[in-house]
Amino acid sequence: MSLPRTRVVTLNAALGPLDYRVPAGMRVEPGTVVIAPLGPRQLIGVAWEAERLPSEEVGDNRLRPLAGLVDVAPIAAPLRRLAEWTADYYLSPLASVLRMILPSAAALEGSRQLTEYRATNTVPARLTPQREQAIARLAGRQGTIRELADIAEVSDTVLRGLVTAGALEAVQVEADRPLPAPDPDFAQPILSTDQQRAADTLVAATGFDPILLDGVTGSGKTEVYFEAIAAALRAGRQTLVLLPEIALTEPFLKRFEARFGCPPNAWHSGLRSSQRRRAWRAIASGEAAVTVGARSALFLPYANLGLIVVDEAHEPSFKQEEGVQYHARDVAVMRARFEDIPVVLSTATPAIETRHMVEIGRYREVALPSRFAGATLPSITAIDLTQDPPPRGRWLAPTLVAEMQANLDAGEQSLLFLNRRGFAPLTLCRHCGHRFQCPNCTAWMVEHRLMHRLACHHCGHVEPPPLKCPECGEEDSLVACGPGVERIADEVAALFPEARTAIVTSDTIWSPAKAAEFVEQMEVGAIDIVIGTQLVTKGYHFPNLTLVGVVDADLGLQGGDLRAAERSFQQISQVAGRAGRGDKPGRVFVQTHDPSAPVIAALIAGDAPGFIAAETAARREAAMPPFGRLAAIIISSEDAAETEATARRIGRAAPMVEGMAVYGPAPAPLAMLRGRHRQRILVHAARALDVQDVIRDWLGGLDWKPKTRVSVDVDPYSFL
Ligand code: ADP
Ligand code: ZN
Repeated sequence: MSLPRTRVVTLNAALGPLDYRVPAGMRVEPGTVVIAPLGPRQLIGVAWEAERLPSEEVGDNRLRPLAGLVDVAPIAAPLRRLAEWTADYYLSPLASVLRMILPSAAALEGSRQLTEYRATNTVPARLTPQREQAIARLAGRQGTIRELADIAEVSDTVLRGLVTAGALEAVQVEADRPLPAPDPDFAQPILSTDQQRAADTLVAATGFDPILLDGVTGSGKTEVYFEAIAAALRAGRQTLVLLPEIALTEPFLKRFEARFGCPPNAWHSGLRSSQRRRAWRAIASGEAAVTVGARSALFLPYANLGLIVVDEAHEPSFKQEEGVQYHARDVAVMRARFEDIPVVLSTATPAIETRHMVEIGRYREVALPSRFAGATLPSITAIDLTQDPPPRGRWLAPTLVAEMQANLDAGEQSLLFLNRRGFAPLTLCRHCGHRFQCPNCTAWMVEHRLMHRLACHHCGHVEPPPLKCPECGEEDSLVACGPGVERIADEVAALFPEARTAIVTSDTIWSPAKAAEFVEQMEVGAIDIVIGTQLVTKGYHFPNLTLVGVVDADLGLQGGDLRAAERSFQQISQVAGRAGRGDKPGRVFVQTHDPSAPVIAALIAGDAPGFIAAETAARREAAMPPFGRLAAIIISSEDAAETEATARRIGRAAPMVEGMAVYGPAPAPLAMLRGRHRQRILVHAARALDVQDVIRDWLGGLDWKPKTRVSVDVDPYSFL
């Protein structure tokens, strides 16, 4: 008789599945999280159905026993199936997907105590300004030294000094303190007829049921899917709400709390390890009734998931561009399928892919055609920059400036949208024409005047702006070309010196606390004019914001990306959707050099269906997604010749397959990124072709130098 054994997938992507002996008395079933010895190391792994992961049989005599079990619930079958599907579809190691299921080492440790600190009434004998600041900010607060240091904005050392001086005292707390429970009846809104009908549909959904909640900006989509969450709460099931960006969570958390009486369980990359541990364990135990998170929340082991909501489902940031290159919107639908639950995709500007699924009957659509409480959609007007140009060296047309002045006089808020961080996208020498390029990337250095730096937006490389040109040595010869938000802010300051302005980009809103501060200032009317990037295009609801100016509507159309027109349309619709959300109507002005371009014309005419129909027809014609498939193979290494040689070898090995075309290799548009040379092969295939299978076979038969990286991006969204 053979020994009891199990197959294990470890979290180490370099290892295939391994077999272990199950010691007597240990209970292991598929999904059990185990500790597996490998050489001198102990690896975390998950027991798996051996028949689903073919691997070489190891003789009983070579089998090592498992070292132990991790005291968490087993990874349930639907999540194991999702992990397999994700690994297969995105051509990634199963271990890499498991790392997203078990992303917190701290979470796997047994229950334990945590030391936190709180202020006492003792005033230390020596009172430095930093100590004073800490004492003032920490009154009534409690947390770990790290957490308190963040709140007080002082170093850990200052706080440790305060502990010694008796001004802070230690308290022992359970690491897994109970979470507050959202109350479905805390503050139920009165829904409009349309909203009620939509909410009823969501609430009645059972089993796998993908639903597009398609409502114009300000129609109350959030209030509507909150009713579905309330229903899940009443049924004792967990909900996952996916949001595109951390910055968005802050206003969202406030709204959630207003509706359900307490904040939800939050999951994002900004969590400290103790918070991750707590959030993960609450998810795995079923205690976390509602989790709100960025895309990585999708793979967590919910004990009892009953509903998934993908908010702002059109957002490109749901696509993960590193590691497992998955699209969280698409994987959310797959997860709902494996869990056999409804999934709601909420957006005012559905992606063509999503619309197509509705068209062919795979998804249902629930529409909210009008804004809540009689608020009207804003009027959109084009400003033709060839007819109505700004003065030389300026970027705001006279018409827009006059409208902004009128808005200021009326005490209403305005928003200028330009999707470009920094002061200027390009700096050059007036004398010799030298352009400042990143040493690691095929990209210009962007001037950030507020930080007094030149920065690369691809790799993060920064330099102080040089006093003279490094090429010709001429002093004071550098000129900024083109505008970024900081430059627009300068122009606004010159035009409206009395106006209070705020720049909103990832440089200024880099934490949930900063986002909260911005929202608060807008709400109390402490800001007249906002200048922002795509960060301000979504989610926010400011009733007194009545004017939106799109500084450069042509910007997003450059670059020849498959989705450029669609993305521009979505972005401008979303930013326009910030205007006139209260009882005052909104006006939107779109600066363009080509008012007759289809995107602009459709926006002005309010003809979303026409635009989508034309885009869809163009995609169908070219057999582009969703009517065909794309996959990008990116070959990169630090050695240019090696990269090229490997790419050529892979290109030559491309199989001839009916319904598949292979383009390249060619240098990727970002031919160098973070010091690595990049070549790209683009695969275009018919919808019906299992392109992953073809690529698996194709690449599986080849090898390359260890320092060369070959990654496959299935359904790519970035064509750089
Ligand atoms: P969307 O997500 O569709 O842009 P929101 O859900 O943000 O719209 O709703 C817009 C605004 O209207 C929000 O401030 C929201 O609280 C308010 N609102 C929507 N529906 C209702 C309702 N039935 N009762 C009260 N306020 C509502
Ligand atoms: Zn760079």
